Amino acid sequence: MSGSTIAAVSTPPGHALRGVIRVSGPRARELARAVARCPEPPDLARRGFWRGRFDDGRGEQPLLLLWMPAPHSYTREDVAEFHLPGNPYLLDAALERLFALGAEPARPGEFTRRAFENGRIDLLQAEGVLALVQAANESERRAAAALLFGGLGERVTLVRDQLEELRALCEASLDFDETDTLSVPAAEIEALGRRALEAVGTALAWEERREPLSALPRISLVGLPNAGKSSLFNALAGGPHALVSEHAGTTRDGVAAIWRIAGVDCRLVDTPGIADGDLDEPDRIAQELARAEHASADLLLWVVDAAVPGNLLEVAEHFDAPRLLAWNKIDLPEARPRPPAELLEKELAWAAVSALEGRGLGELGDRAAALLGLAGDSGQPAGEPRLGRELSLRHRHALESSRRELAAALELLASGAPLDLAAEALRAATDALDDIAGRTTPEDLLDRIFARFCLGK
Ligand code: GDP
Repeated sequence: MSGSTIAAVSTPPGHALRGVIRVSGPRARELARAVARCPEPPDLARRGFWRGRFDDGRGEQPLLLLWMPAPHSYTREDVAEFHLPGNPYLLDAALERLFALGAEPARPGEFTRRAFENGRIDLLQAEGVLALVQAANESERRAAAALLFGGLGERVTLVRDQLEELRALCEASLDFDETDTLSVPAAEIEALGRRALEAVGTALAWEERREPLSALPRISLVGLPNAGKSSLFNALAGGPHALVSEHAGTTRDGVAAIWRIAGVDCRLVDTPGIADGDLDEPDRIAQELARAEHASADLLLWVVDAAVPGNLLEVAEHFDAPRLLAWNKIDLPEARPRPPAELLEKELAWAAVSALEGRGLGELGDRAAALLGLAGDSGQPAGEPRLGRELSLRHRHALESSRRELAAALELLASGAPLDLAAEALRAATDALDDIAGRTTPEDLLDRIFARFCLGK
């Protein structure tokens, strides 16, 4: 347990209905007593919440006090949460009061760091929290959830148990010489070793397959057949990737390519045109796949033939994800220059383009970037896009070195080398795995990981 008591605003900056100040540490109880004026005196021996007023020294503010005594809190320390009006000026006054009474300003991520150091969560989970807090779009959110709940931790624990058992066997055999009855059969050690090796391999394969956290933002092209989706796809992705055809309905399967907007790679998917009515089996399946793709897209790029727009309001009902309208084929003389007013009334973002002549594509990219929340010049989307890749690399690196050490141990065992050498290699294999949960992670790496959290988390 840390000696200090930390405090920070844990809600985003700015005006809101409610702002939360979180306090954690041995003096949280005393601080809560000093500032909370509640009609019913809080019983801080148990978990609970009380309404009252927060005395910030200059005045009183409406307060909801949440009290979580150690060890039943996020940090496993005494934690008080002061829910106050979400007014930066009032929150500052309240925070200043807590500092004056002896709390210390929390560093970014310090609450989560304490949760980690007090054994409440492991590093893998801390990373999941971080990724979740920073998720800037749906795919990052999904990937963060995979980190938090995805089961890498369980897989690693399984391998670790097997390694420990193996090492225990080797070490037990060490204590007895050959004449002794307890000498462990080599075959048993070998079988166990092979099983552990397989389990590391499975964990590694799983981690490699896992959708990377910074999975690219997904953009799906949608629209009626012949609107020009495939042509636009090719124009945006910079090459003839997709099938372009004058006959309606030629794109049955989704085709994907990279569209780079605002310096960020996005995954652009061309899907079959919307079709209703009687469909043959392949078309029906294609429509279903397309719908699944649309449902998981971060942005739908809705392509419309400006010369033959069709019933736009009806088509619009097919989609509920964020949409960007590509008003296509404006090079045609019969094209209408802009979408009808009743559509634009719905605050629909749009750009006039010609996939054929490559007109308006920059503007379309700018609109997409704005809708996806990608940063303008920095070339990086909001929320640390490379975080996922970095975390995944860390896990893979650890799994790979564990596998290497384990393979070396098995080789030593097979060649009849002294058992203590094999036991040593097995220990190294376990240490490498422990790196994933943060048990053996060097302090400076921990500092780096936690420094990426926001203040108050
Ligand atoms: P999809 O069915 O929506 O994928 O549409 P395609 O990309 O296959 O295009 C259908 C037809 O429209 C093709 O003959 C294209 O050449 C034509 N087309 C697509 N974009 C444009 C454009 O911007 N201007 C003109 N004039 N024709 C286009």
